[in-house]
Amino acid sequence: MKDKILNATLLELMQMVKNNEVTKKEIFKTYLENIQEKDKEIGAYISVEENIQDGIPIAIKDNINVVGTKTTCASKILENYESPYNAVLVDKLIDAGFAVNGKVNLDEFAFGSSTEYSAIKQTSNPHNLNHVPGGSSGGSAASVAANLAPCAIGTDTGGSVRQPANYCGVVGLKPSYGTISRYGIVSFGSSLDQAGIITKNVEDAAYLLNVISGDGIKDTTSLKKEELPDFTAKLNDGIKGIKVAVIDQFLQEEMQEEVRQAIDKTISIFKENGTVDRVNVGFGKEAISVYHILSSAEASSNLSRIDGIRYGKRIEGDTLEDLYVKTRTEGFGRESKRRIMLGTYVLSAGYYDAYYKKALKVRQLIIKEINKIFEEYDVILMPVTIKTAPKKGYVEANQEETFYSDLYTCLANITGICSISVPVSKDNNNMPIGIQLLCNRYEDDKLLQISNAIFKKFNKDI
Ligand code: GLN
Repeated sequence: MKDKILNATLLELMQMVKNNEVTKKEIFKTYLENIQEKDKEIGAYISVEENIQDGIPIAIKDNINVVGTKTTCASKILENYESPYNAVLVDKLIDAGFAVNGKVNLDEFAFGSSTEYSAIKQTSNPHNLNHVPGGSSGGSAASVAANLAPCAIGTDTGGSVRQPANYCGVVGLKPSYGTISRYGIVSFGSSLDQAGIITKNVEDAAYLLNVISGDGIKDTTSLKKEELPDFTAKLNDGIKGIKVAVIDQFLQEEMQEEVRQAIDKTISIFKENGTVDRVNVGFGKEAISVYHILSSAEASSNLSRIDGIRYGKRIEGDTLEDLYVKTRTEGFGRESKRRIMLGTYVLSAGYYDAYYKKALKVRQLIIKEINKIFEEYDVILMPVTIKTAPKKGYVEANQEETFYSDLYTCLANITGICSISVPVSKDNNNMPIGIQLLCNRYEDDKLLQISNAIFKKFNKDI
């Protein structure tokens, strides 16, 4: 029974509960025992719910508030911060019969691509412990990949759900901006942030999106539940007649051979069922500049409240300024400081026009180009990353490459469209490879339809 529970998908677990084969408490206990046994080597959890709960377990990234837990953002400055209320998405999970089985690791404040920038602990990729799980939602992806939770929630500002899901061989969904309430999630870049879902297959992701989507009140940039479709409705509608766009410039990059093969194989599946065209856009790496300028600007503003007075650990000083300086210098890690400084710089009076305002304009141009593609095509296909999960230490030693590796994922955040990473194969070292699919804003139901078909073609025995 233990293996059956740990290997089941979310929907299978729910079916087992319905059939009275197992109770939710038994499921929760089985996962708890697996965490106790395995998480010493994986390092996914910052805190674990040790009391057996009557709910389907779910892992929550530690930048999302859950009453009764700390929300550390994997930072020393918030290491004792008690969640004052539940995020809207957490309330919805609890109402639907889920129970949080722990808070999982991330790069500090979600700044990063490997979870190595966590100030609390290191997380390993369950497929090979010498490799990183990706980031920033590395704990979320590793927890699902290692069967420590059947599903997890992360956040995605520039790729932080899809990239770690891709590295860990699980499904990662970033819905359209405004689908899931941001209320109760510690903000990084408010115009880019969305919570995302990590599961073992696409059907589970669609089910969970139905559960956690909708708000419109506490987060006014989100939609009301009534405005959203049933995300499971089209799941089995297939890919007959689907029109697919592949962005030419995005395939010119140095790509790991096996990743290219995965893209080619996906293209041939789409071609058997519909049409695939190569299209051109007028931008490439500019998207990365836009992403880093805007996300850092918004982050520097959002994190200004963490100053030892309003939020966070306080280190006393002789004057108020001294207190701020000591608190923030000691409390924030190097990457957080880098983002805060970059953001402050691009928003400063002398550079606002040259960087921040210009990035806003380029963002609009990118949105226009992407809209144009969706006038003709249903879906865009591209890699999630051009390589599989790197070894530990690689990111720190290759910062510029890491910076550019967000190119494929940040596009969905800049434009607010929906995107999913789907595991399709493995490379010669047995590390997972995924592909990325993107649909227009508020076409998440269509995205789930298409990605479910692709997932099933590649993962026939699941
Ligand atoms: N890797 C990206 C960054 O470092 C994405 C982070 C995210 O989506 N939270 O900013």
